[in-house]
Amino acid sequence: MTDAVFDLVVRGGLLVLPQETLEADIGVRDGLIAAIGPGLGRGRREISAEGRLVLPGGIDSHCHMDQQPWEGKATADDFDSGTLSAMCGGTTTVVPFAMQMRGQSLSAIVADYHGRAGPKAHIDYGFHLIVGDPSAEVLRDEIPALIAAGCTSIKIYLTYDGLKLDDYEVLNVLDLARSQGAMVMVHAENDACIRWLTERFVAARKTQLRYHVHAHPDIGDREATFRAISLSELIETPILVSHVAAGGAVEEIRRAKARGLPIYAETCPQYLFLSAEDIDTDDLSGSKCVCTPPPRDKSNQPAIWQGILDGTIEVFSSDHSPWNYVDKIAGGPDTPFHRIPNGIPGIETRLALLFSAGVNGGRLSLQKFADLTSGAPARLFGLSPRKGTISVGADADLAIWDPDRTVTIRNDILHHATDHTPYEGQTVRGWPVMTISRGELVWNDGEILSKAGRGRFIARERPFPPRQDLSKVLSS
Ligand SMILES: [Zn+2]
Repeated sequence: MTDAVFDLVVRGGLLVLPQETLEADIGVRDGLIAAIGPGLGRGRREISAEGRLVLPGGIDSHCHMDQQPWEGKATADDFDSGTLSAMCGGTTTVVPFAMQMRGQSLSAIVADYHGRAGPKAHIDYGFHLIVGDPSAEVLRDEIPALIAAGCTSIKIYLTYDGLKLDDYEVLNVLDLARSQGAMVMVHAENDACIRWLTERFVAARKTQLRYHVHAHPDIGDREATFRAISLSELIETPILVSHVAAGGAVEEIRRAKARGLPIYAETCPQYLFLSAEDIDTDDLSGSKCVCTPPPRDKSNQPAIWQGILDGTIEVFSSDHSPWNYVDKIAGGPDTPFHRIPNGIPGIETRLALLFSAGVNGGRLSLQKFADLTSGAPARLFGLSPRKGTISVGADADLAIWDPDRTVTIRNDILHHATDHTPYEGQTVRGWPVMTISRGELVWNDGEILSKAGRGRFIARERPFPPRQDLSKVLSS
């Protein structure tokens, strides 16, 4: 076929562009979107998208894979199964975490992580830097070089032994992030509240699963969120509040935004589609839904939806943290709640769950859905304009959806290596049937066409202009 104009043409779909929905073709050359319009010339390969939606491939900016073991135990997914599962769920880019704990070199962790991802990833990836030990050397020597090499975001924790930073350390990290133009994600729970409550519940022999929710109180999220916002304001550095789970945290973020502060926020499927009721089981089956922050009382779900709708929450990611159920229950039926590993899988079901309840449920426009799941994470984490939207010059990362297909989620239709899904039995309408990564059809409705190792590390741009000055604080 010598008269082909494009390597690939995706023909006749309803394209979800940033400002409009348009019935048109997409022409791809060298892995990039070369043209968008009706009646494009021929491609060496053609894919019909008649009757289907064509969305930007999902970007999952919060997922854990092949992280170093936690208390001697490892999670299920490496970069092979983790990125494969993402790809089969319509996601084309993931940003997992290179995790530094106390006493470790962050550069060594990132080098190790490259070795784990490079030969295995099916789709493109970047790394966030979990900074668990912001020593003077790490701040001065390691992090600026890692940011310059394309890891332009940092995650910090206000709880968890081995990772949590005190407020002084948080200020140091924020100060560095500002001077480097990096994004800082914050796990905002109040550590003392969790420890204090856990000790009391354990002493009172209240160790059933339901106390996991009570030991991680909403009020602790609200306080830690407000504290993170305050430190961010003092040091004039944007932050993104991770996995917003409760209405109180939404209110704090909304108030900060109303004051013009650069505060961003993310939520996850478990805060819309699971609740404390799913954890409250007499046996340990509820541990399939144990993560932190935990899914809250159902009354929080409307507040999270409202946060999404009014722009308080920009990003919808999975927080895929694939603990096997067998490991969650390894301690036997009387395992106390605080000994259950925290984290649930969800990288493959993230998009379909939100599409079904959001788009088909009449809450979200297609544009809003695409922005929550791809556009906003691309902008906030330095992947735009290369990824995040269907636009000429961008990578041809696409997900083709059957908006009406009804699917009952079962673990055996998913591609992660985890032994369960917390969404078992939930039925959704709308399903990503094809995934195209840099112009290559990698998932075709049940058929895996990718190879481990084809995914590439994406050196991300700095999301913000670097700023050395602390205008307000130091000029006072
Ligand atoms: Zn996480």
